[in-house]
Amino acid sequence: MYRSHSCGELRESHIDTAVTLSGWVAKTRDKGFVVWVDLRDRYGITQLVFDADRTSAALLEQARNLGREFVIQVKGTVIERASKNANIPTGNIEVLVEDLKVLNESKTPPFTIENDTDGGEDLRMKYRYLDIRRNPVKNNLIFRSKVTMEVRKYLSEQGFIEVETPYLIKSTPEGARDFVVPSRMNEGQFYALPQSPQTFKQLLMVGGLDKYFQIVKCFRDEDLRADRQPEFTQIDCEMAFVEQEDILNAFEGLTKHLLKEIKGIDSTSFPRMTYDEAMAKYGNDKPDIRFGMDFCPLTPKGGTFGFNVFDNAALVVGITVAGCASYTRKQIDALTDWVRRPQIGANGLVWIKYTEDKTFSSSVNKFFDEAYLAHFSKQMNAKPGDLMLVMAGETNKVRAQLSALRMELASRLGLRNANEFAPLWVVDFPLLELDEETGHYHAMHHPFTSPKPGQLELLDSDPGAVRANAYDLVLNGNEIGGGSIRIHNKETQSIMFKHLGFTPEEAKAQFGFLMDAFQYGAPPHGGIAFGLDRLVAILGGQETIRDFIAFPKNNSGRDVMIDAPAPIDKEQLKELNLKLDL
Ligand code: ASP
Repeated sequence: MYRSHSCGELRESHIDTAVTLSGWVAKTRDKGFVVWVDLRDRYGITQLVFDADRTSAALLEQARNLGREFVIQVKGTVIERASKNANIPTGNIEVLVEDLKVLNESKTPPFTIENDTDGGEDLRMKYRYLDIRRNPVKNNLIFRSKVTMEVRKYLSEQGFIEVETPYLIKSTPEGARDFVVPSRMNEGQFYALPQSPQTFKQLLMVGGLDKYFQIVKCFRDEDLRADRQPEFTQIDCEMAFVEQEDILNAFEGLTKHLLKEIKGIDSTSFPRMTYDEAMAKYGNDKPDIRFGMDFCPLTPKGGTFGFNVFDNAALVVGITVAGCASYTRKQIDALTDWVRRPQIGANGLVWIKYTEDKTFSSSVNKFFDEAYLAHFSKQMNAKPGDLMLVMAGETNKVRAQLSALRMELASRLGLRNANEFAPLWVVDFPLLELDEETGHYHAMHHPFTSPKPGQLELLDSDPGAVRANAYDLVLNGNEIGGGSIRIHNKETQSIMFKHLGFTPEEAKAQFGFLMDAFQYGAPPHGGIAFGLDRLVAILGGQETIRDFIAFPKNNSGRDVMIDAPAPIDKEQLKELNLKLDL
């Protein structure tokens, strides 16, 4: 028996008990006549004591020679600790060791296995197994496990069936490139790894399973943006005989359950907002609604502003920053520089201060008198003491820029409280999105999403105006889930493919199986998928998903621990009929 107790288990009630413990040497303190060792395992730390009075000289010597991270087993007796440590649950006792066995030695670890380690990101990733011994990483993995258990519990109780779908498939378009896998047995042919199980879950509905879920890996070969992983996990769900409202209710239920079980939060409201409203009010389809600073469009008093920058702009819009009229010139200049950075790309920022003594000062005093500024302040619901920040230009650009500024200000002002949870459904997304570069429309969600009833005809005349039965669940400014009611009719699906630029032959070659299935009694259906990594990170009150993934890839999509991706040898290439000298 390696152990009778864990390293987090022993208390005063165990005093005088003979115990066996196994774990890692976290720390040794050698005071000459006495040696203390902190023994660590997943459950905690227990102090071991070896001393000249009560321990043999040989044993004391053995303890002295223990290195950090040695794996040891000890047998001994639980005794009361002379100087107690109130910071750890085992702090009232220690184990007087009678026997010590080294189970495995350890090289000196490349960074300290402490809550605050001296190891940088790269080093920690290279030795991730050591990183996982640290409490913050270990606790995140335990937290993730708890969240997934709750998801399984809730959905199973609601009658969802967990089904595994294949990983070696044909392309499922979710807007990214596929990772492909060459087939040795089918020369010159490739599988694609699923960007999501989309088509399979729809086929499960045709199969009559009615309610499906899966906690599943998805693979997307995208240019990696910050905090994206080429493989990530979704809570993937689908239901038959449902309308949008049914899905929203079902998954509000799941989200409420998680907030309750994981965070102890009881009631949360799930406001709904259309995509158009979200864009107009927050410049963003995943607005953070934990704070205000809603967008206020500015209109001229008469026919024009009399200020070229505003008059030539498609949109003049601002936000009111409460209580910030006291900002210094330097602070405002810093904000202006911030929006001018290439990442944001704004030309400039107009500011108007509504001072406590009810006067105005602004960067546009030359163009607008007090009365005009007062007119703006009304449009922007500003109160004395507030700062108004205004941007002007092309609608989409200005919205994106002001949205970024709004989020930045909220961070600077401490308005993004990690312990506050503000979910929101964004509904009625456009069905299609214009690709500015190619001039072609592509599906905003995916090609299987159904248009709103009666809007199919609009596809010919005004494709950009067609709205979809598509929805996103947004939490604290992050899209944590998204889905849609699907097309379940072959003709409609063919029309969609046509509008997405597929010839009938191409559509048949790629998605013939789905169109075929639609001819055998496909029920109306719809679903949603949650990004589990992001959801767990947000519930955990943290920013980066990497901290909640056991073995994440770095920003270049590499696993630096196993050193992947890597070349494969010639034999393997030959077997797969792959030639690399293009
Ligand atoms: N397949 C979609 C996605 O991965 C989710 C859905 O439509 O259910 O985003």
